[in-house]
Amino acid sequence: MLTQMIITSMTALFVLPELPYKADALEPVISRETIEYHHGKHLQAYVNTLNVLVKDTPYEQMNLEEIVRKAPEGPLFNNAGQVLNHTLYFEQFREAKSGEENVPQGRLAAAIDQAFGSFAEFKTKMEAASAGLFGSGWVWLAQDDAGHLSVVQCPNAGNPVTKGWVPLLGFDVWEHAYYVDYRNRRADHVAALWQIVDWDVVGHRMK
Ligand code: MN
Repeated sequence: MLTQMIITSMTALFVLPELPYKADALEPVISRETIEYHHGKHLQAYVNTLNVLVKDTPYEQMNLEEIVRKAPEGPLFNNAGQVLNHTLYFEQFREAKSGEENVPQGRLAAAIDQAFGSFAEFKTKMEAASAGLFGSGWVWLAQDDAGHLSVVQCPNAGNPVTKGWVPLLGFDVWEHAYYVDYRNRRADHVAALWQIVDWDVVGHRMK
């Protein structure tokens, strides 16, 4: 009985997603220290807060994406959004491989060319959107209902799922994502991220 009560009271609905690589795997683009804080502290805090906020509410029955789509503006949306955003974020990277041009392939590459003209133009647009987002937030490559790709700026915990779009690639431009490694140089951090994007993961998110 006591054991059951402890298990029940300690059951977390949402758990910290495991990193698909070691904490130092993304160096020198993202340091071990940044990963340890960003994943182990910031994301863990969002997960913990989300679990408190959904407890004994109808949101307890929903998956993360449903919560983000249905929650009103405020703490629930912010924490659910940040759990979804960071889950997508940490999954989409892999270690930099020297001597390899890291570019999208296949259907994703074709969709990028169609929407932006070229991969280079897409990168320019994503970098400009990241530099131009005032304050904290995210810049997403997203796919709309018609299958068309766009770069979307979202303040704070925003995610294009609230528009019914599919988030494909997300750049976190909150200072906690880069300040340890790049200080105030957000643009340098974003430009370096291209080395570690796992385009297979991004491509598999397309509908
Ligand atoms: Mn973050």
